[in-house]
Amino acid sequence: MMRQFELVERVQRYNPETDEDLLNRAYVYAMKAHGGQKRASGDPYFSHPLEVAAILTDLHMDDATIAAALLHDVVEDTDHTLIEVEQIFGADIAKLVDGVTKLNRLELVSKKATQAENLRKLLLAISTDVRVLLIKLADRLHNIRTLHHVPPAKRSRIAEETLEIYAPLAARMGMQHLREEFENICFEAIQPEAFATITKKMALLRVKNAGLMGKITNELQHKLHEQGIAAHVSWREKSSFSIWRKMEHKTLSFEQLSDVYGFRIAVDSIPSCYQALGVIHTTYPMVPGRFKDYISIPKENDYRSIHTTIVGPGKQRVELQVRTQEMHEIAEYGIAAHALYKAGISSGNDRLAAESRAFAWLKRTVDMLVAGDSPEEFLEHTKLELFQDQVFCFTPKGKLIAMPRGAKPMDFAYALHTTIGNECIGCKINGQITPLTVDLRNGDEVEILTAKGHVPMAAWESLVVTGKARAAIRRATRLAERARYAALGRQLLKRFFQRHARTYDEAQIAAVASKLARQSVEEVLAAVGQGDIIANDVVSAVYPDYAKSPEGMMRLTAEQRKDHTGQPVDSTDQLKALSIQGIDNDIPIEFAPHGGAIPGDRIVGILTPNRGITIYPIHAPELAALEDQIERWVDVRWAPEAEGVVRFPTQIRAIVLNEPGVLAQVAQVIADTDGNIQNLRITSSSRPVCEMLIDLEVYNVKHLARILALLKTKTVVTDAQRVFG
Ligand code: MN
Repeated sequence: MMRQFELVERVQRYNPETDEDLLNRAYVYAMKAHGGQKRASGDPYFSHPLEVAAILTDLHMDDATIAAALLHDVVEDTDHTLIEVEQIFGADIAKLVDGVTKLNRLELVSKKATQAENLRKLLLAISTDVRVLLIKLADRLHNIRTLHHVPPAKRSRIAEETLEIYAPLAARMGMQHLREEFENICFEAIQPEAFATITKKMALLRVKNAGLMGKITNELQHKLHEQGIAAHVSWREKSSFSIWRKMEHKTLSFEQLSDVYGFRIAVDSIPSCYQALGVIHTTYPMVPGRFKDYISIPKENDYRSIHTTIVGPGKQRVELQVRTQEMHEIAEYGIAAHALYKAGISSGNDRLAAESRAFAWLKRTVDMLVAGDSPEEFLEHTKLELFQDQVFCFTPKGKLIAMPRGAKPMDFAYALHTTIGNECIGCKINGQITPLTVDLRNGDEVEILTAKGHVPMAAWESLVVTGKARAAIRRATRLAERARYAALGRQLLKRFFQRHARTYDEAQIAAVASKLARQSVEEVLAAVGQGDIIANDVVSAVYPDYAKSPEGMMRLTAEQRKDHTGQPVDSTDQLKALSIQGIDNDIPIEFAPHGGAIPGDRIVGILTPNRGITIYPIHAPELAALEDQIERWVDVRWAPEAEGVVRFPTQIRAIVLNEPGVLAQVAQVIADTDGNIQNLRITSSSRPVCEMLIDLEVYNVKHLARILALLKTKTVVTDAQRVFG
């Protein structure tokens, strides 16, 4: 545990005028007050406020804040009162302690409907004095640094709350350093496996790229020095959480250097930033669309830097930030970079408001909050950017619905009610008919249009972002799919019964369902539609005399079954055919095997006499040979409503490490994402890697992309690509 004089020394290092006596008194008072109390770790409780104070010395806070940090849990957790704290330490410190105590009592993560209200209280509590917020953030930081001592159930609740509220709040205040630590610790607590995978992969890359990073750094530095620019070039790894978030949102490949490492050019003045940029852009080609000038237009949280990506030394894509030292400090420490110990901040609010856009935002927001009537209205008016990962929308009656950022009207519909989600066919946003595919924005008023009995398309499952919507869509589309198979099964059975001169009666089938190991007629019909039960077995079950007849005894081959029923038994082919538009229904459709087309691909149909139309993806190599037979090409397109109903065959090539257990890991990823492996073979193998070709079935291009992205997160997988033909 840190000793009294050590704490004082830490403060003296940045603030020689510190009130040593005050810090000593607060130290002793808090230590005595917490007495024999223990933390979950078994450490004396006092170690916690002490560490919180230490974190605040890193942020160069004033004496009152450090003292209040030492005292921050005294009122909450011991029998000492706020009045006593005020008598001993004065009104300023007491107010800070009171602010933090009140914050602790706020149940921040409660029902979504009251989140706006809680946020309002939180902002009110911190608005009068930003130091309350900084103590609270330091408090939370120490609590999550020691999170592993907390029981698992409570642990994930704290981690989730931190990710939802405190990390965005730190980000909004420009405290990138703090935000990253929040995110990484919580990421590990909530998704330990993903965290381990990414950490391991980063470690491998670190070894692999060790020399390269130094080389790039030196070369950039050299080029700048040649042009007379005094610059310091450095590189860093991005945080594991930010890499994960990118992998989730885009299908990025881990191997791209620019996705994992960032380079920084530090210079001494703003003109030098632009000179350095000039040198870089004339030496190396820039990657279009990646250039951003946050010096000219700073971010709302005061962040300033120039961002660009170049094709740099060794043809590597290199992501660069150009900034001055001052910009760097604000980027890392945000609002705390404004030397808060100097002015005695309670009197320095105006200075801070002038210096910091983030603080000005806080002040402005709170002013509006005080003037506004309801928290909902407040959210609507401020277009609150605090919850960077959330979006708040309203029903026409004014009910507030909070959803993750990126939420679609469909998520909103499911948040209201599962039936509303299922029957959602359109929406009005702020009174205007709007496509269901838009991202909702803060303050949007959303009206959901429904149609009774409507079933959501399966493709929606990959578009929505909330778990509730995803699960409900999956359930609804499975039921609908089953109903479709049942209808097909009914058709097959009716024809089969007719052909064998037996009466088709579903009550009779219900009576024998258990003999066929099914619970209901529906299930029997669906099983026939799916080809799990053959029609012959159903007739046999209903009519025992038929079962004993020669034709009943006959085990039919697939080809014969086709003859008997006039229908191919593999109903999946029919469902697949349903997903193609643009051709006469009577022409049989088939799909090129393996590297064939999957929904979302650009496709073309090739007419083959006596056989029908074969669907190919436009990239298929087979098409090259048909280029001069233009009369065989048919324009076809996917039927949007059929997407996601049935799986289509495709093929991927994966380069994996040649070690035990690799196969199982690859298969697991595919199974977990609801893909279906048909065949898997090793095509070349020489230590340390081998190449495998996997035939699998997927619902559509997005589904395949998700599988490929997840495969690439595995340490054992070095590459995974789709194969055409
Ligand atoms: Mn605490």
